[in-house]
Amino acid sequence: MQAFAQDGVPLVETTLLQNMERLAQEAHGLQPDDVVQWQAHGELRPRAGGDDEVWLHLQAKTSIPLTCQRCMGAVATPLEMDQWYRFVANEDIAMAEDDQSEEDLLVMEPQFDLLAVLEDELLMALPLVPMHEQCPVAPKLSAGDEGMEGGEVEKPNPFAVLAQLKSQKRVKSKLCKPAGRPSGAGAGEAMHIRL
Ligand SMILES: [Zn+2]
Repeated sequence: MQAFAQDGVPLVETTLLQNMERLAQEAHGLQPDDVVQWQAHGELRPRAGGDDEVWLHLQAKTSIPLTCQRCMGAVATPLEMDQWYRFVANEDIAMAEDDQSEEDLLVMEPQFDLLAVLEDELLMALPLVPMHEQCPVAPKLSAGDEGMEGGEVEKPNPFAVLAQLKSQKRVKSKLCKPAGRPSGAGAGEAMHIRL
């Protein structure tokens, strides 16, 4: 990561969504060629009286089919993220500084898994209640529900929104540890990008 930041050369990549297992699980009818386009670049920023700080800028864009909560059909949902991270030496510093930091903090690790961080960000960017603006097929209403027609649009539960905001604020330092992925050969092995 240090070397990557020193280079400053951006990494521009396209990754198949099906290789992001946790994200793929949320999808509704993922196509084999559905991808996320992303880029990352690092930089060193001088710090008075100390080592240079290592910063990472990560940007990604994709569209993922999710399950519409009204008609249960697939709804193409654009996702974007654009985030700066600052690396800190350990978990304790991350916990201590997270509250005062605008940027997100990541713990410097010898094998930093960039794709795991990217996947975490995209998971957090998923809408709570994916829905078509206008469903291609009207939801089936039983005879007794006729009064509902043209009625209220389902709103996300405010408490659920709050919960999501809270979870977004959590220390991201934990995220850079690769989640327990299945070991062994297979497509999954190629997807780890360690810097
Ligand atoms: Zn729908």
